[in-house]
Amino acid sequence: MHFGLVNRVQCQTCGHVSRKSDDAQTLNLEIPRGASTLGECLEAFFKDEILDGDNKYECDKCKERKAGLQSARKGLRLSSRMSDVFVVHMKRFRYGYGGLYGGVRIKKSVSSRSG
Ligand SMILES: [Zn+2]
Repeated sequence: MHFGLVNRVQCQTCGHVSRKSDDAQTLNLEIPRGASTLGECLEAFFKDEILDGDNKYECDKCKERKAGLQSARKGLRLSSRMSDVFVVHMKRFRYGYGGLYGGVRIKKSVSSRSG
């Protein structure tokens, strides 16, 4: 049993897209602050992130023309090789400054219903 996650990064300067596939058996979901449904957790997980400032990205194409680091859009996608079943693992711990926050207990129940 597996499903594929695709790590997709698109350079904001030249539009070049880099994809890296990962076979995974479980989807490790953070429970974002304020989220109360599985849908909201999934939405946060698949939300694109802009790499900018100190986080700039080394694009292969821009590197060839020695253009330096670029801002980019980074996000996860599901691959087309999805299995019928996958396991969702809800993380009960959060990371932050100073490492792992000790044993955060999430008391809130999370609905698996959509919407
Ligand atoms: Zn580029």
